[in-house]
Amino acid sequence: MGVADASLVEIVPGAHAWVQPEGGWWVNNAGLVAAEDGSRAMVVDTCVSSARTLRFLEAAAEATGGAPVRMAVNTHQHGDHTYGNHLLPGGTVIAAQEKARDAIVEDPFFDDVPRVWEPMPDWSDAVRRPPELTFREELTLHVGGVRAEVRHPGYTAHTPGDAVVWLPEQRVLYAGDLVFNRVTPLIFMGSLEGARRAVEWLDGFGADHLVPGHGALLEGAGIAGALAEQERYYAFVARTAERGRKDGIGPLEAARGADLGEFASWPDAERIVLNLHRAYADAEGREMDMVAAFTDTLAFTGGPLPCDA
Ligand SMILES: [Zn+2]
Repeated sequence: MGVADASLVEIVPGAHAWVQPEGGWWVNNAGLVAAEDGSRAMVVDTCVSSARTLRFLEAAAEATGGAPVRMAVNTHQHGDHTYGNHLLPGGTVIAAQEKARDAIVEDPFFDDVPRVWEPMPDWSDAVRRPPELTFREELTLHVGGVRAEVRHPGYTAHTPGDAVVWLPEQRVLYAGDLVFNRVTPLIFMGSLEGARRAVEWLDGFGADHLVPGHGALLEGAGIAGALAEQERYYAFVARTAERGRKDGIGPLEAARGADLGEFASWPDAERIVLNLHRAYADAEGREMDMVAAFTDTLAFTGGPLPCDA
């Protein structure tokens, strides 16, 4: 799977998803909301590389008859959703939760990422472009006549500054990385407990269509099914961490001894090591050691992490 496999899908009139298979490391989904009269558009997230972001923006222009992108939302700080921000028009206003903006401004990975992926994603031509507009709890944007509610769950989940974009009339929810659809969820920069709370919070929207941050689009009963899968995975991480701590073994040994079961076939299964590092740190009330977490993940895979970006 490469950039050529990405596609813009119209979910309902005016609400689109940029879907990039297969949704593993650094390969995200994004969104496009367009005014009915073609006067303006908004994007939800960009992509990691210029090649991926430009392809998204070209598809967006084609789908909307060239509607100018006046606004954008970053669902969270991660580079696969934000490193393409600099390719948005200079006048586009980018919005994000205030903690997401802080993290984008400070993001040490932008200049110096651990070189643990093979091949490495390339954003060497990117310019750091933080959001211009921040909010604490929620923000409502109007894309022509389309109402878009941007909401923060109120706590750290996938990251401290997560946000979803909810179109109440279209019943479309852009969930960012609060949902990974059959791709291993990642909470190492967030909170296991918060991620579990967020699953319930997302269920409360009653969405008909859900765009996950990674993986295939969801609709109807598939949404509840995917949310239940997230919860099962988080419960598995919590159980494995609890047992490992009780047995006095570290996250790597706990991961090696765990049976991934139904999650073994999901891309990026090695994230269990990063997620356990987070679960251990939270349970012990201390900062997570990022270097140790990546070192253990490489030991778990026995080599670099496969990447498709
Ligand atoms: Zn993320």
